[in-house]
Amino acid sequence: MVDSLHSQAFTLGRQQETPFYIFSQDRLSSALQRFRQFTSSLPFPTETYYSYKTNYLPALCDQIAEARVGSEITSPAEWAAARRRHAPDRIVVNGIGKCADGLLQSIVDEVASAPRLVNLETDTEIGIVARRDQEAQPLPIGLRVTIPSVSGELGRDPSEHWKRGVTKFGWSCDGDAILAAARTLAGNRAVRLEALHVHFGSQLVSAARYDVVLSKLCNLLRRLSSAGVTVNTLDLGGGLASGWVTKRRTGPLFDLVKVLGLPTPRSQQKAPDLVGITTVVHKHAARLSSLGVTRLIFEPGRYLAEPAMVAVAKVIAVRRDGTRRHAVVDLGTNGLHCWRSNETRPIAFDLAGKGGAEMMKLVGPLCHRSDSFGTVTTPGRLQAGDLVCFDAVGAYSLGDWVANAWPRPPVFSEDGHLLWAPPSHGLPANSPSGGR
Ligand SMILES: *Cc1c(COP(=O)(O)O)cnc(C)c1O
Repeated sequence: MVDSLHSQAFTLGRQQETPFYIFSQDRLSSALQRFRQFTSSLPFPTETYYSYKTNYLPALCDQIAEARVGSEITSPAEWAAARRRHAPDRIVVNGIGKCADGLLQSIVDEVASAPRLVNLETDTEIGIVARRDQEAQPLPIGLRVTIPSVSGELGRDPSEHWKRGVTKFGWSCDGDAILAAARTLAGNRAVRLEALHVHFGSQLVSAARYDVVLSKLCNLLRRLSSAGVTVNTLDLGGGLASGWVTKRRTGPLFDLVKVLGLPTPRSQQKAPDLVGITTVVHKHAARLSSLGVTRLIFEPGRYLAEPAMVAVAKVIAVRRDGTRRHAVVDLGTNGLHCWRSNETRPIAFDLAGKGGAEMMKLVGPLCHRSDSFGTVTTPGRLQAGDLVCFDAVGAYSLGDWVANAWPRPPVFSEDGHLLWAPPSHGLPANSPSGGR
């Protein structure tokens, strides 16, 4: 079946210069609808905040705001973009970047209003919020928690995750440091300790993962409660797979298992088991309620944004030398920063000629081995001028937009002349650090 967005992409591709992206309102609204269906099946009232770093295309952010979904931000530029659409109480503030350019300090200094939630992850941040004016509107605070080694769903096997070590975010759920942090905040009336925050991976699909995390959080809630602290909200972060991208697991253990010819435990992952995750939350609901939890927060990024964009490129050269089959397109992997070699996305072709299907290595114009989209089977014989549509590229794409939460670095000559500066960094110039 031909996807109507692909047909539209090819119609545009014959009229416009390639490459380009298309943002689809319909794709976004159906993702929003599916997510809402999921949250409405949960046993707690649920709030949703879209993760701005995933994609802050204004049209996409506007549509999400119009769907009455709040914003989750991790940097000053994202805060500015979110503030153009929401009052502070519709924004969740997260990440290391919240300390950049004095953002956290300015939030603390604003006594008359407060974000929906500020999730802290370091003692330094606790120090900053603890100095809020005691007469200010209380600042709702969450503590970011890490759950050690519940890995296995990062597209890598656990051995690879162990190798990568501990995460740089948050307090361990098993340690005492988080109890000390909670006690410090609980005694301060300018803040209101309200939530535990976890963000435990990306492209999550399995309910088992949520089961482990909720069990660990129940234990932590019990320890907090013994220390005299209750929180009423669990912020379960983002990380859900969108269902559009197939991810192959890699890593030493998987390779070994494959070499030995043993059956691999589901080596491909794609759609999140939302029904299973709902069941898991129901399973823990009574215990969570008894520990004081009354609501949940989610911060989806990829789930909403990934299906909402496609990229269109043109084949500029085809080479068939012996067994080598290369098709060069006018879009590089640096323009589709989301592309990973262990992932497969839908790719559609608009071919002018006839002929049989063939295996082709699809590469960008840069003569570097990193600039490859992988090997694909084309529906027919490819030739220069044919169009290619790369689907599900709405999350973490558009070059280095993630890094562009801060402005791109300029380039100077040795003697300090400005050689190049970004014309714009993708956000309007009134962001705190923008407008250079
Ligand atoms: C990146 C991020 C998200 C969104 O993650 P997705 O995998 O895109 O859903 C949510 N919360 C936090 C804290 C993040 O850093």
